Amino acid sequence: MSFDWEDDWPVASDNISPISNVNKPNPQCKTKRFNNYKNRRTEESRAPGDCKKMWIPTKFVGKVIGRGGSNISDLEYQSGAKIQVTKETDKEKTLLKLFGTAESFRKATQLINEITQDRQKTYTRNESISHQINSKSVVTSNESVPIKKPERAKFFDMEECEKEYWSNFPEIRKKFYEEHPAVRALTDKDVKEIRLENNNIVVDRVLSTENGAAIPKPVLTFEQAFCRYPEILSQLKKAQFDKPTPIQCQAWPILMSGEDMIGIAQTGSGKTLAFLLPAFIHIEGQLTPKEDRKGPAVLVVAPTRELALQIDKEIKKFNYHTINSCCIYGGGNRKQQVAELKSGVDIVIATPGRMNDLFDSGDLYIENITYLILDEADRMLDMGFEAQLRRVLYGIRPNRQTVMTSATWPSGVRRLAVSYTKDPIQVYVGSLDLTAAHSVAQIIHILEESDKEKTFFDFIANMGPDDKVIVFCSTKGKTDYLSVECIMKRLPSASIHSNKEQCDREQAIADIMDGTAKILIATDVASRGLDIDDVTHVINYDFPKNIEEYVHRVGRTGRAGKTGESISYFTRENWASAGELINILEEAKQYVPKELYDMSERFASRQQKKTQNPTRGFRSGSRW
Ligand code: AMP
Repeated sequence: MSFDWEDDWPVASDNISPISNVNKPNPQCKTKRFNNYKNRRTEESRAPGDCKKMWIPTKFVGKVIGRGGSNISDLEYQSGAKIQVTKETDKEKTLLKLFGTAESFRKATQLINEITQDRQKTYTRNESISHQINSKSVVTSNESVPIKKPERAKFFDMEECEKEYWSNFPEIRKKFYEEHPAVRALTDKDVKEIRLENNNIVVDRVLSTENGAAIPKPVLTFEQAFCRYPEILSQLKKAQFDKPTPIQCQAWPILMSGEDMIGIAQTGSGKTLAFLLPAFIHIEGQLTPKEDRKGPAVLVVAPTRELALQIDKEIKKFNYHTINSCCIYGGGNRKQQVAELKSGVDIVIATPGRMNDLFDSGDLYIENITYLILDEADRMLDMGFEAQLRRVLYGIRPNRQTVMTSATWPSGVRRLAVSYTKDPIQVYVGSLDLTAAHSVAQIIHILEESDKEKTFFDFIANMGPDDKVIVFCSTKGKTDYLSVECIMKRLPSASIHSNKEQCDREQAIADIMDGTAKILIATDVASRGLDIDDVTHVINYDFPKNIEEYVHRVGRTGRAGKTGESISYFTRENWASAGELINILEEAKQYVPKELYDMSERFASRQQKKTQNPTRGFRSGSRW
């Protein structure tokens, strides 16, 4: 079947409405997923370029959109065209609008035709929809084995198709938890008190509309969590940890019970071991022995190579049985990473770009992944990795166990959770509001831009022998400048930003970790995930653009029960952040300089005036 084209529609015409105008979703498309997709598309901006119209049978709209919008994302990714499904219908056809170049139109049409062509067609192996869209895996009608009509209808029910495919895989075992008698004996009141005392842990099945199964009670000791796993207990003892951190208290019983979980916790909270120790038990508990399994059983996706390397380090430090891991990240030696994958690993820790790359090349086999972790999901979204994540995640077994961690709970993370977790239990430590670590003294210096350098070097001159400081700058150029100044003054410093070679970045981290360097100058690339011991001070040389980043930077000190100090240089240019900063400081019972209140008030009143008289422009920070 071919489709009708109408050439050269006016670009960005006001008639072009976002996907929210789709009025009749395909009944096969589950409402939740459809809404999910709809929301995503509504947020997207209109694509530039020419516009083409394409009519497709309305019955295929659901197929084109796919689960949670995954098919249309893939179509857009592969063709380079933006695709909008409109509400316009005509005689059982629906209008699609394509934006892009002539080449992207050609590719998009071809791909859409492949999905919607009304002819007999069947698939080999594991052609889930994402594989179908990779045209190389589509079997053409000539190659297909003819099938009877009712079965053909079944073929187009992708959920059925997937179910059938995955049914050939071994059952996933997820339940390994046995409640310790002391935990079983806890009353509801005890549980409430324990959660309150442990940084006010709050647990909830956030995405379920009805009351789901009971949420496992928290544990108070390592023994209560791992009484059946003496090797884990002995490793914890070796690490000289006293007791589980708040997130661990609650995450271990949840994850060992086989539930999906969303951990809202900062780095430094012990979240890595919260998801890793149950992962070890999960790997060993599967029916197919490790040796006979193709590809990893556990995938951890992390936003930055530093965080990925750190997770890998934590796995290797634990050295549990023969479980091995491999870290795949951009900037690392690709050949070596491929060789490691080929040699057989249980856990892969990946950054999204390299994960896609090795998935496309066939070096990363994902079909035996039964435990998936999306670490720092909010950060991955901030860094624009959503499309890359979706491509790979679509091919992972749908009934796997999934863990997401995030420092915050914005709508983007919620959307990911809806797509990739099943009735997850959210565990958050502290409140969901942005709260900066209470173990950190937060000092705000209000000054002029030109005074920063002197203030900074005065501070450095007064550093004690045991002090270690991370200094955050807003740009790579500023980072380089300060770094050179430190070198000229023969200060023990290192610097890190995204333009640095991977080996230099790793060396900088090694230097600050082992104390060769006492000053690490960094852009935000280092603000999250890095677990550097004994950082006594954080200096916000440039105040961050958003308050979440401030909280993450502050969290680089005051870790693992120690206290720390954060010093922020706040200039008139930063006045838009004054209000949010005041909230954080007040919540943490910190001193708030009067000038900060003044700046906040002035900014608010300026904003109000601007709303009343929108034509009057103003310069950021011009009158504080
Ligand atoms: P994370 O939040 O995962 O980055 O962990 C921060 C640091 O805390 C890591 O060095 C962990 O090894 C350490 N850690 C994890 N669990 C505990 C615990 N129960 N007690 C003390 N330190 C821990």
